[in-house]
Amino acid sequence: MLYKIFINNYSFFKIYISLRVEMNKIKYETKNFKSETQQLLHLMINSLYSNKEIFVRELISNASDAIEKLRFHILSTPNLCEHDDIFIIKIIIDKDNGIIKFIDNGVGMNKDEVIVNLGTIAKSGTKEFIELCKSKDFNKNNYIGQFGVGFYSAFIVSDKIVVRTKSVFDNNNGILWKSKGKGNYIISECIKNNRGTEISLHIRDNEKKFLDYDYIKNIVVKYSEHISVPVEVSTISNSNIHKSEKINKGIAFWARNKSNITDNEYKQFYKNISHDYEDPLLWIHNHVEGNQEYISLLYIPKKLPFDIWHNNKNGIKLYVNRMFIMDNNEVFIPKYLRFVKGIVDSSNLSLNISRETLQDNYIVKSLKKSLTRKILSKLNSLANDNLNKYQIFWNTFGVILKEGLAEDIINKDKIANLLRFSSNKSNVEDQVISLKEYTSKMINNQDKIYYISSDSYITAKNNPHLEFFNKKGIEVLFLYDRIDEWMISYLSEYDGKRLQSINKFDESLNKLDNVNIKKLEEYQNTLNPVLKKIKNILFDYVKDVKITNRLINSPSVLVTDSNDMNTQMIKLLVSTGQKVPDIKYIFEINPKHGLIKKLINIKENSKFIELVKLLFDQSMLIEYGSLREPSAFVNRINNFLLNKL
Ligand code: ADP
Ligand code: MG
Repeated sequence: MLYKIFINNYSFFKIYISLRVEMNKIKYETKNFKSETQQLLHLMINSLYSNKEIFVRELISNASDAIEKLRFHILSTPNLCEHDDIFIIKIIIDKDNGIIKFIDNGVGMNKDEVIVNLGTIAKSGTKEFIELCKSKDFNKNNYIGQFGVGFYSAFIVSDKIVVRTKSVFDNNNGILWKSKGKGNYIISECIKNNRGTEISLHIRDNEKKFLDYDYIKNIVVKYSEHISVPVEVSTISNSNIHKSEKINKGIAFWARNKSNITDNEYKQFYKNISHDYEDPLLWIHNHVEGNQEYISLLYIPKKLPFDIWHNNKNGIKLYVNRMFIMDNNEVFIPKYLRFVKGIVDSSNLSLNISRETLQDNYIVKSLKKSLTRKILSKLNSLANDNLNKYQIFWNTFGVILKEGLAEDIINKDKIANLLRFSSNKSNVEDQVISLKEYTSKMINNQDKIYYISSDSYITAKNNPHLEFFNKKGIEVLFLYDRIDEWMISYLSEYDGKRLQSINKFDESLNKLDNVNIKKLEEYQNTLNPVLKKIKNILFDYVKDVKITNRLINSPSVLVTDSNDMNTQMIKLLVSTGQKVPDIKYIFEINPKHGLIKKLINIKENSKFIELVKLLFDQSMLIEYGSLREPSAFVNRINNFLLNKL
C-alpha cells in the first residue's frame, strides 16, 4: 500500500518536475509598446468616460472576426478542425476574482501576430487619433473601432489584461500576453490545448458593475444580436457555472426578411458593423434574384468618416452565401460613394475569390453597377421626398459626390441632378438649389446657367462680377468648394444649357441687357485713347482694356478671356505645386463710376499712371486674393491718403 502511494506520488512528482522543466524553458519577454502608445492609452482611458461599455462590442467583434477568418480557411483546408466543431463566443464572468473572460475558438494568433496585432496600438493614423482623443467630440462620436484600437478599449475598465491564444496553424504551445496598459507588455509561451483566444479582463475596482451578470448580458444583447456566431454569457463562482444563456440566434442579419426587421434593428446592425456611435442617415436593403443573385445592405452614415480623405477604401464587407470573405472592398462601390458602408452577400461569386482577382471579375463589375444605381436612385428619391434629410446628406457628403461627375460618365446626369448650390438669390450660405430648379427659374432670353468661382461664399457674394446679374435678377450659382472648378470642367452642359462662368468674358451677356449697344460703342470710341493709354501702362499684366456696362458700384474688374484658365483653377494647380504661366486678364472699367470719370480727366501723366495701377491692384485683389507686389500697392494708397488728408 505504502509502496503504491509512493509510486503514485512519484509519478505525480515526475509530472510536476517535467512541467517545471517545461515552464523554465518558457521565456518571458518584456516588450515596450511603440512610443505613442502610452500617451494614447492614457488619453483614451481618460477621455472615454461616457461610453465605457463599447469594449464589449469591440471584443465580440474581434472574436467574431477570428471565427469568420477560420471558417474561411476551412473552405480550402477542411481538416483544420473537426467537422462537428461548433463555433462559439463565450463570455464568462468570474465575480470572485473580478475577471471577465472573452473566449473564442477562432483562428487564434501565433507569437509574431500577437506582437504585431496587440503590440501596436492605432495602426492606422495614430496622430489623428491622438488629436481626436483631445477634442471634445471624442465622446460623442465613437472613433475607437474605426482606428483599429478596439482591443485597447478594454483598458478603460481593466487594470490588467491577460490574453492566451493559440493559432489554428500552430501545433506548438500557445502564447501568453499580459499588460497593465502602461508602457509595456509581457509575452511568453504558455500551455493551451485548444485553438482560439481567451482574453481575461481584470476589472478595475471602480468599474465593478461590469461584473454583474444582467448588466453585461444586456450589453451583449445589444452588440451581438446580429452577428453570425452564437454568443453565450455565463457566470461562475468556485469553478461552478451558475447561470448561462445563449444570447443571439447566430444567423446573418441581412439574410432575414425585410418585413421582419425593425428600424431599431437596422440601426443597431449598422453600429455594430461600422463602429459608429450615431444612427445612420439611411439604409438600402435588397434581396436580388435572377442572373445575378445577391443581398445587399448598404448604409449612409450621418457624419463624414474621419479618414475619408486619405483612405479610399470603403466599408463594404463581402460575403458569399453568408460566408465572410473579406473587408474593405473598394471594388463594389465607386470612389465617389466611398462613404457607404455595409454588406454585399453574393450567391454567384466563388468562395475562394481573392482580392487580386476581384477587380477584374465580371460578376463584381455588374454588382458594382447595380449597387451604384441603387444608391443614386435612393438619393434621388430622398431629394424628392425628404428635403431635410437630403440636405443633411448633401452638406456632409456633397463634396465627395461631386467627384462622381469625373469618375462616372454613365451616371453623370443622375449625379448632376443631385448637386446643390448656393446662389446670389438667397442670403444664406446653404447649398439648396438644384440645377433643375435653376433652369426652371431662368429669365426671358436666358439660355445659359451662370456661375461664379471663388474662394468662399463671402467672396463670391461680394464679387463685382455679380453686380449686373443682381440688377437683372439673374440667378448665379456660387462655386467655392475646392473641388468645384475641377468638377465643373466635367459638366459643360445641363439639360441642353451651357454652364457659363461669369468671371469669364462673355459677349452674349449684352443680349440680356437692353442697354443701347450703340451707346456702349460710342463710349468705347470716345474713350479709345484713354483705353489705349491704360493698356500701355498695364501692358505686362493685361490682354486688353474694355468698357463694361456690367458694373454698378465698382470702378473696374478683371475678366478671364473666354478660352483661358479660370482663376480658381490656377489657384488649385498652384496649391498642388504645379507651375502655371502668369495669366493675363481683360481689364474692364466702368465709365459711370466716379473714379473712372476722374481718371479720364487727369492731365498729369504720373498721377494717371498711379491711379490706373491702383485700380488694377484693387481688381486683382478681388479676383485673385493676393498681389504680386503688395508693398507697392500699400505705398500707393498711402500716397493718395497723404495728398488727400
Ligand atoms: P481591428 O479589429 O480594427 O484590427 P483591434 O484592436 O480590435 O483592431 O484588434 C487588433 C488585431 O488583433 C485584430 O486585427 C486581430 O488581428 C487581432 N485580434 C484581436 N482579437 C483577436 C481574437 N479574438 N482572435 C484573433 N485575433 C485577434
Ligand atoms: Mg477590432
